[in-house]
Amino acid sequence: MSIWTTAGRLKGILFASSADQFATLRAHRRGESDLLFRDGMWFLIATCEVPEPEAFEPTDWIGVDRGIANLATTSDLDNFQGRRLQRYRRWHARKRAELQAKQTKSANRRLKKRAHKEARHATCVNHGIAKDIVAVAQRTGRGIALEELRGIRDRVRLYRHQRATQSSWPFHQLERRITYKARRAGVPVLLVDARYTSQMCPRCKHTARSNRPTRDTFSCRQCGLAGPADVVAAVNIRDRARRAWVLVNVPVPMAA
Ligand SMILES: [Zn+2]
Repeated sequence: MSIWTTAGRLKGILFASSADQFATLRAHRRGESDLLFRDGMWFLIATCEVPEPEAFEPTDWIGVDRGIANLATTSDLDNFQGRRLQRYRRWHARKRAELQAKQTKSANRRLKKRAHKEARHATCVNHGIAKDIVAVAQRTGRGIALEELRGIRDRVRLYRHQRATQSSWPFHQLERRITYKARRAGVPVLLVDARYTSQMCPRCKHTARSNRPTRDTFSCRQCGLAGPADVVAAVNIRDRARRAWVLVNVPVPMAA
C-alpha cells in the first residue's frame, strides 16, 4: 500500500492480514483506508462492500442459548465453554485494580493497553464461536435462533464473583458476530422472545422457577424431564423459532 505523510507519499509499504481478509480486500475494497496506531501497533482499517447473498429458506432452526459459564450452547448440544475466558477476565480485573491503585501516568497507560488486549481476546473468542455456529447452520440448511437481548440481564443468574464482569460481558458482541457472519453466508437469523426460556419445560410446557433446582440444572416438577439448563433453554429457543416461522409462513387463505 502507499500512504500520504507530512514528508510526501510513501509507496510500497507492506502489510499483513489473514488470507480471508486479503481476499475480501482485493475483491471489495471501497475508497480510502484509515491508519490507526494502538498499543504500539499500526492497523489499517479498510471499508469493503461485500454483496450479500439472499438468505435461504431454512429447513429448521438451531437454538443458541448464551450464558456465562457456557458462552453459547446450541440445541444440537454443541457447547462453547467460557470458563477459561472467565478466569482470564478475573485475572485481568485483579491486575486492573493493582494498576488503578497506583494512579501514576505510566500505570494509566498500561491500564489502557490492558483493556484493549482484553477486548481483543474476547472478540477473538466470540469470532470463533460465531464462525462455528454459522458454518453448521449453513452446512445443514438451518437458520439460527437467538434470544432477544432485552430479557437476558434479568434472566441470567450470577454468582457474586461473576457480577463484576457481567456488565461488560460480550453477549451483544456475540450476537453482532453471528448476525454479520450469517448474513454473509445467507443464513437466516431469528430473534425470539427470551421470557421463561430457562424455566419452561420443552416437553410439557410447565413453567416454574422451581424447575431450576440449581443454576446449571433443569428438572421439570411436572413431567420429570431433566437436563443441563442451558441445553433446555437452547431447545426452547429453537422451538420458539419453529413456531414463529410457521406463523410467518402460513399461507394466507384466499377470500371466497
Ligand atoms: Zn415437563
